[in-house]
Amino acid sequence: MDKKQIDWGNLGFAYMPTDERYVSNFKDGAWDEGTMTTDANVTISECAGVLQYAQTVFEGLKAYTTEDGRTVTFRPDLNASRLKASAERLEMAAFPEDRFIDAIKKLVKANEAYVPPYGSGATLYIRPYIFGTNAVIGVKPADEYQFRAFCTPVGPYFKGGAKPITLRVCDFDRAAPHGTGHIKAGLNYAMSLHAIVTAHQEGYDENMYLDSATRTKVEETGGANILFVTKDNTVVTPKSDTILPSITRRSLVYVAEHYLGLKVEEREVLFEEVKDMAECGLCGTAAVISPVGKIVDHGKEICIPSGMDEMGPVIQKLYDTLTGIQMGRIEAPEGWIVEI
Ligand SMILES: *Cc1c(COP(=O)(O)O)cnc(C)c1O
Repeated sequence: MDKKQIDWGNLGFAYMPTDERYVSNFKDGAWDEGTMTTDANVTISECAGVLQYAQTVFEGLKAYTTEDGRTVTFRPDLNASRLKASAERLEMAAFPEDRFIDAIKKLVKANEAYVPPYGSGATLYIRPYIFGTNAVIGVKPADEYQFRAFCTPVGPYFKGGAKPITLRVCDFDRAAPHGTGHIKAGLNYAMSLHAIVTAHQEGYDENMYLDSATRTKVEETGGANILFVTKDNTVVTPKSDTILPSITRRSLVYVAEHYLGLKVEEREVLFEEVKDMAECGLCGTAAVISPVGKIVDHGKEICIPSGMDEMGPVIQKLYDTLTGIQMGRIEAPEGWIVEI
């Protein structure tokens, strides 16, 4: 397979259209058989449910080349089930889970020339999503939907190694109790944009959201779950109904327990406890883990002991083990690696 002439090592995280994308439409109560298309544009009613009332949910996963040259994806079954849960919460047609896997395989196969080679640090980012397509003016769910999945090659998230970042404790809320914080809905991101733009203006990398009901517990950032390591090497990650169930975080918890023999606690984490943590990281598909060096709470700085120069030792081990599993250097648990 001839790869495209792309400078893999210098790709950023930006959209680059590839040759083909997968499309299936839901109408009269059923999904059609689905097809690959070269058309990167979507034409829908000016009054489409997605445009008026934000009926859209999405996923993010990656395809990449393993050390032995296979093209694989990581735990796509969990993306399939999460997309279904997201769609159901917004009263949208859910895309069948087995068909989701099939669509991802077809998509990556059709764009295999864009899957970055092993060792480049780049990956093929896959974006599946569902949105309401027919005209809706009275407030109600759409009756017609489109499932679409495209992919785009993206560069190594951290060029020149992962530098620890700074979070600010955010005064805006990301998710309300009994709201939609636990699903991957575009609307959660729309309302986080003002918070992230102002955070950047003030010199912070990301927002740390606290629980909106009491503002005493750590939730997550705009697009990544949070993981702490205590001074006695216990991995602690917040448990809350309003956190998005990150596949990376769930995988890291498994790796911590079963590969590294670490103790893991998934529980409520008081913001008050953060000052006593030894390490902190953000986890999500894009970067796997981003180390956090500093958290600023209205001018009060909490400096994480692992510092601003490199990842803490436990987070480094978690990162190395999970990326080793993904790249085929370390044996994966049954079903984690799906070959294209
Ligand atoms: C997608 C997402 C994450 C990360 O989830 P992964 O499955 O690990 O990519 C975390 N938080 C939010 C709010 C998200 O939307």
